[in-house]
Amino acid sequence: MGRYSDKNAVITGGASGMGFAMAKLLVEGGARVVITGRSQATLDAARERLGNNAVAVRGDVASLSDLDVLADRVKSELGAIDALFVNAGIATLTPFESVTEEVYDELFAINVKGAFFTVQRLAALLSTGAGVVLTTSVANVMGMPETSVYAAGKAALRSMARSLSRELLSRGIRVNAVSPGPIDTGILDAMMTEEAAAQFKAERVADNPMRRFGTPDEVARAAVFLAFDATYTTGSEFAVDGGATQL
Ligand code: NAD
Repeated sequence: MGRYSDKNAVITGGASGMGFAMAKLLVEGGARVVITGRSQATLDAARERLGNNAVAVRGDVASLSDLDVLADRVKSELGAIDALFVNAGIATLTPFESVTEEVYDELFAINVKGAFFTVQRLAALLSTGAGVVLTTSVANVMGMPETSVYAAGKAALRSMARSLSRELLSRGIRVNAVSPGPIDTGILDAMMTEEAAAQFKAERVADNPMRRFGTPDEVARAAVFLAFDATYTTGSEFAVDGGATQL
């Protein structure tokens, strides 16, 4: 019997990067997981790799009707949720002068509104003792170039970890945030030119006390710890950043 064999989890953006690493860790421990994402092909490939204990549901977290469809599917597939990983996000990095209204609105629609309504629309399915983990970023406490909108959105999520944990406390539900530093997941390559991504990555490695990127699995283990093991912890943020925000 696996460590998570009687547990159910939902992971938004669970078909790639650190969300997929969370799904893999939990499925290997015997959990049933629902992963979400926007690309059917990526979801199908992820579900194939995860096996029968994973269910893939296509949907955009910025769409409230998609979130309602997700809630219905989660109810029929899992019944109740023991761990909710609010992980879906984009990282459009743009110099402050060049930020357009479209860039601003898309970042906030996915990273902030999407995260907020994911918790709201799935809240009724959270079991007593459930853990919610929001994915913030070290950018919310560091002044990094080209991150003004992204970082502000992640700071909003950090704030929500506190206020939502207060509102869900009476139901025995904890809400925490995992705050990744630079993790090589492909998110940057998707959002930048190859040259800009290479330069950004080299700068992050040079800046980092451990002189390396973190792995998706290192974030997954921290997120799973917050969801299941950190039973006296709520409203907090846990950094997985090679010491970048501490040293
Ligand atoms: P990733 O691109 O592999 O994962 C993001 C996932 O979110 C993808 O599967 C994507 O399809 C999904 N997604 C994006 N927009 C969506 C939408 N509108 N609806 C549903 N799904 C959507 O990258 P990742 O690095 O694993 O990112 C995961 C989270 O970690 C993000 O919230 C990101 O902001 C955060 N983060 C990443 C880093 C890093 O260095 N990689 C650092 C700090 C925080």
